[in-house]
Amino acid sequence: MREEVKQRVAHFAAAGFKRDLYYRDGDTRPALRGQIFAAMKWQWTTFVLLYWTAICMNARTTVPAKDLPTFVLIRGMAAVSYILLVFIGDLYHNSDAHHAREKEEGTTTLSPLHYELKWLRCDFFTISLIQASTFQVWVANYGFIEGHWWAAALSWSICVFVVIVSVFYLDPNRDPATVYENTKSPAALDAIKGLLGTQFVTYVYLISTGPAGCAWSAAVYYIFVPGFVAYAARFPEDRPLFGSHEVFHIFIVLGIFSSMVCDAANMSYQCAAR
Ligand SMILES: [Zn+2]
Repeated sequence: MREEVKQRVAHFAAAGFKRDLYYRDGDTRPALRGQIFAAMKWQWTTFVLLYWTAICMNARTTVPAKDLPTFVLIRGMAAVSYILLVFIGDLYHNSDAHHAREKEEGTTTLSPLHYELKWLRCDFFTISLIQASTFQVWVANYGFIEGHWWAAALSWSICVFVVIVSVFYLDPNRDPATVYENTKSPAALDAIKGLLGTQFVTYVYLISTGPAGCAWSAAVYYIFVPGFVAYAARFPEDRPLFGSHEVFHIFIVLGIFSSMVCDAANMSYQCAAR
C-alpha cells in the first residue's frame, strides 16, 4: 500500500471510521453506509409486491383487456428494479461485510476490490433499470408511448451502454485508475454517471411535455433532486456515522416510493384524461 494511502487510512481511523474504506478509491465508509438497504430489504420488498398486486388487480376492471399485458409488464419491470435496488444496494455498499462473510463460507474467490467492483457494476445497472422502467410507467400514464418512442429508445439504450461500460471499462485490469492505491476516479465512472444523468434529464423533459392534468406527477421528479444535489456537492461531509451519500439514498427511496403511490393513485385519477 502506498505511503499516502496508509496516511489516509490512519487519519480516517483516528476520526472514528471503523469500517474498511472503499477498496476502489479509499473513500470513507460511515457506519450507516448501506444500512438503510440492509435494514429494509424485506419490508420494502413486501411493499413493492403489494403495490404491484394492487394495481394489477385494479387494472383488470379499469384497463382495456388488450392493454392489460403491457400494463402488467411495465409495472412488473418497475417492481423488479425497485426490489433489486435494496438487495444490490446492500451487497455493494456493505461489500466489506459481505466479502468477509462469503470468504469465510468459501463462496467467493474474488479479492475485496474485485468483489466491490462486481456489485458496483450491478448497482449502476439497477439505477439505470429503475430510471428506464419508472420512465416507462409515466410514459404509459401520460398516454403517449407512440409519440415519444425515441425517448423510450434512448432511455433503454442508456441501460445497455451502462452495462457495456461497466463490464468492459470498470475493470482494474483494463483501467489501472481503479485501484485502492489511486484515489482518482476512473474515466469509466464519470462516463456512467454522465449516462445516468442523461437518462434522468430525458425523464424530466418528458414530465415538462406531459398533459396539463398530470403536472402534479412532476413531484416524483422533484423529490430526487435534493438527493442529487447532496451527492454532487458531497454535502453534508462524511462523518463516522453518515454523510451525503446517505442523504442521496434517502431521497432516491422517497422518490421511488412516491412514484409507486402516484402511479396507484393515477389508476382512479387518470391524469391524462383531464
Ligand atoms: Zn450508493
